[in-house]
Amino acid sequence: MHVAVLGTGIMGAGMTRSLLRAGHDVRVWNRTAARAQPLADDGATVAGTPAGAVEGAEVVLVMLWDSPAVLDVLGSAAGAAPDAVWLQGSTIGADGMREVAAARRPDLRLVDAPVLGTKGPAEQGTLVALLSGAPADVAAAQPAIDGYSARSVYAGERLGAASALKLACNAWVATMNAAVGQSIALAEGLGLDPALFLEATRGGASDTPYLHMKAELIAKGEFPPSFTLAGAFKDVELIRAAARGVSVADDVLAGLVAAYGRAVAAGHGEEDMAAVYRAFPPR
Ligand code: NAP
Repeated sequence: MHVAVLGTGIMGAGMTRSLLRAGHDVRVWNRTAARAQPLADDGATVAGTPAGAVEGAEVVLVMLWDSPAVLDVLGSAAGAAPDAVWLQGSTIGADGMREVAAARRPDLRLVDAPVLGTKGPAEQGTLVALLSGAPADVAAAQPAIDGYSARSVYAGERLGAASALKLACNAWVATMNAAVGQSIALAEGLGLDPALFLEATRGGASDTPYLHMKAELIAKGEFPPSFTLAGAFKDVELIRAAARGVSVADDVLAGLVAAYGRAVAAGHGEEDMAAVYRAFPPR
């Protein structure tokens, strides 16, 4: 298929390479052109404007930071590919997705399409695609979706349903990640070798590969980003606002916003979200 990717950050770049490997013809655009340029070596065509990237595309994948960026780029480019299916993959929450849906030309074929998984799965084409929208639009875009994902979960026709599901999933990931940092800091604060915490939980029902992945980064003190702390902070704020909007108790989320916010304020926003650990050690 002819696919356009708008936004070649950590996720958009990996998804582009997966789409190319799957045999699609991919044209990309990124606000900071230098970040898109290396994708030319992988076989993508780099365009100078969003409209230039989407012209002639059958599917457009939007993979930007937040809803203002999505609204801005969609506004400037939608007219250049009026018949394409537009996959909105950025994490913008259900409210953000509804805002985007309301702002578009009503006949634009928009699919709510956030993803689960991070840099590695984006590069390998093994993300989980969360989808909602008109079944015919999802079906038309499925060959492209299959280029970057191992499986799809369809949440229904309502735009915003897939983004709501993404928030529930990210609440889980953000909580686990903060819990890893908290337990390691607690073990250290109580005078223990944190390796004992990993040994004690190993193989039990509460053990998970995620714990070991994140504990390894903490042990090394190096946090190359798969998903940045700044991104996780953006998401816990979106999740808390969504919880408040439907009167779901938000006390755990308030703690997450405080912890992620503290680590970002300390200057660690561009590190992996595992660096939320830095919010916990005794001061
Ligand atoms: P990233 O590496 O920081 O990339 C963000 C992208 O958004 C870049 O292309 C950036 O362009 C662009 N952007 C930001 N503000 C913009 C604006 N005002 N106008 C135009 N473009 C703008 O982030 P990422 O990790 O790829 O995440 C992208 C989206 O996917 C986010 O919504 C994130 O929450 C979500 N997500 C991330 C992961 C993950 O593990 N990384 C997983 C699932 C979902 P520049 O290069 O010019 O800054």
